[in-house]
Amino acid sequence: MKKKILVLSAKTGGGHRAAALAVLEAFDYIEHNLEITHYDFIENAPRPFDDLPKYYSTITKLPPAYGSIFKATEGKRQSKFSTDTIARIYKTHLESVINQFNPDIILSFHFGANCLMPVIAGMGKKIPYITVVTDLATGHPMWFDERASACIVPSHEAFVRARTYGMPASKLHIIGLPINRQFGLEKRSKAEIRKSLGWPTDEPAILVMTGGDGLGKISVLSRRIDNSKSITSSVAIIAGRNATLEKNLNKRNWKKQTTVYGFRDDIADMMHAADVLLTKAGPGTIVEAIVSRLPIVIYDFLPGQEEGNLEYVVSNHAGVWASTAALATRATQDILDGNVTIGGATYEKTRLRHDHAAEKIAEFVKNYPV
Ligand code: UDP
Repeated sequence: MKKKILVLSAKTGGGHRAAALAVLEAFDYIEHNLEITHYDFIENAPRPFDDLPKYYSTITKLPPAYGSIFKATEGKRQSKFSTDTIARIYKTHLESVINQFNPDIILSFHFGANCLMPVIAGMGKKIPYITVVTDLATGHPMWFDERASACIVPSHEAFVRARTYGMPASKLHIIGLPINRQFGLEKRSKAEIRKSLGWPTDEPAILVMTGGDGLGKISVLSRRIDNSKSITSSVAIIAGRNATLEKNLNKRNWKKQTTVYGFRDDIADMMHAADVLLTKAGPGTIVEAIVSRLPIVIYDFLPGQEEGNLEYVVSNHAGVWASTAALATRATQDILDGNVTIGGATYEKTRLRHDHAAEKIAEFVKNYPV
């Protein structure tokens, strides 16, 4: 009989879902006899829980408020209390999810889904529950619920963080952050890809990203880059799901050849076409850039959650952290002029780990004993 795998993710930001999709895709490339279902546990939850992506998107646009909530809840007891409270409130719904899918294994890409664990135990069932942590270094302790059967982390930094919050080492597996395989596969030249995207082929290209929800100090930064006389590049800005940002950026009279996009599905192409990436410190975007060998300038971060990603980028020789728009512009110029480079042994090791993570996680799940 086929083992039934229930894959859980949600659209709070873009990273959880992108990681889940990468592993789902990897199942297509390995031999298996599994029945796999992907389920957005927030989209399908009762009100007001199903509105969480909207609240998340609003609160993350107010970094100090987001940082305060993160810090206030950053503890083992607070995390268990939150998980158990959600489990109690939504018990009937969560039981119906388990009964509907009757999975042999649960593979979760979102800490919010941990509320299923006490519900499953309350139903007298034993279902292996595997968590894939999608934060590189300073993820919220809600990720590290020791009731999970296994916890897959993307880095040593995340391993240490998990141990800090009491996750047993025997349950931790450092595999990497799963990303779409296209990031590691590209064979075309930059000029070819630029042509296919409609970007100029005769000058370098700057890619500006803002996470799935279009966050970060993008307005001042993009103006600064546009006004820089020493940078001669085209610019592509991805506003993600932030329609207001997209509209406002599209109203500007840009001096440089600039294209503003909403949410796109061809980020891999854009990363391979670009010479430098300016981004907020989203883990998915950082790892995708590392695997694409694209130098990174971090210009913003979510307090708490993404703080550790600044050090991650710098210590892996993947790019720089610039705390102001002026510094980010200067760093961009340094990279374009070849005065700041990426790479080296640590970089290559990190790159390899993430490049193969999706397939390794698919194999891990396939071989997991039930
Ligand atoms: N992304 C995308 N299209 C867009 C903008 C973003 O596919 O237009 C993807 C991006 O490639 C990455 C994810 O959304 O995989 C963003 O994840 P990250 O962890 O960087 O930030 P989050 O949005 O979760 O804060």
